Amino acid sequence: MVAREVESLRHAVTPWRRAGQRIALVPTMGALHDGHRALVGHARTLADHVVVSIFVNPTQFAPHEDLDRYPRQEARDLAILTEAGASLVWMPAVGTMYPEGCSTRISPGTAADGLETDHRPHFFGGVASVVAKLLNQVTPDIALFGEKDYQQLCVVRQMVQDLDMNVEILGHPTVREADGLALSSRNAYLREEERQIAPALFEIISQVARQAPTTRDLAGMRTDAASQLLSRGFASVDYIDVRDAATLGPYRPDRTGRVLAAAWLGRTRLIDNVAVGV
Ligand code: AMP
Repeated sequence: MVAREVESLRHAVTPWRRAGQRIALVPTMGALHDGHRALVGHARTLADHVVVSIFVNPTQFAPHEDLDRYPRQEARDLAILTEAGASLVWMPAVGTMYPEGCSTRISPGTAADGLETDHRPHFFGGVASVVAKLLNQVTPDIALFGEKDYQQLCVVRQMVQDLDMNVEILGHPTVREADGLALSSRNAYLREEERQIAPALFEIISQVARQAPTTRDLAGMRTDAASQLLSRGFASVDYIDVRDAATLGPYRPDRTGRVLAAAWLGRTRLIDNVAVGV
């Protein structure tokens, strides 16, 4: 079942709520892959109904970014979601999500400080605002987000906590190709030779994660990791950093950490992250 208007979405969801059934939301931008499938599969084990939203959100793209070329494949996505067992696909048009005059925006909290925000300052404001709208539209009991976008997961968790939103946010581990590359809709942009180089990102952040708890020179280790990415064929490195896994504040070796990185391979920007054990 597909809903394209808020009214038809509410029409579908209201009887489930009245019957006391549990609803899960999996927000996506479409161009679905096995990472999205894993989220839907996990959601099905936790709820009676899984609503998957497909919305390429213009407010989280800057004018120079890839909004226009972002892959869109509606028919294929709907077939995947039918097979995956989604109860409802919520696919609003841009004008439905942001009708004339819609101007309220969420200002994200401290989890949005640095990392992605240093390079995409508009990004988390757009993400937080659209996620708040999706949560209000679908009224799920739980919403699932991939650890692939780790800072996004932290920003959403903080928003839900700070604004007393009545939903549980769950993270799901990153689904990877056999060679370690994290699945992403943007991997479709990679040329053959770039695809060969791409797994170096996971390899190098994993190496940083192993070294982080005992290193005396975190800054030197980060610089060295960035140089390695460049020597492997990455065009530039936006950031590679180690943060506290819960708050994204400064890393402390006695607490669980997270290595987060973003780097350009040709014209494609890849992001990834891994856990740092205590
Ligand atoms: P996107 O369509 O890229 O906005 O992603 C929709 C949701 O799927 C987000 O919560 C992502 O973090 C999650 N996701 C994307 N790629 C992966 C992956 N490789 N493994 C797990 N979750 C993912």
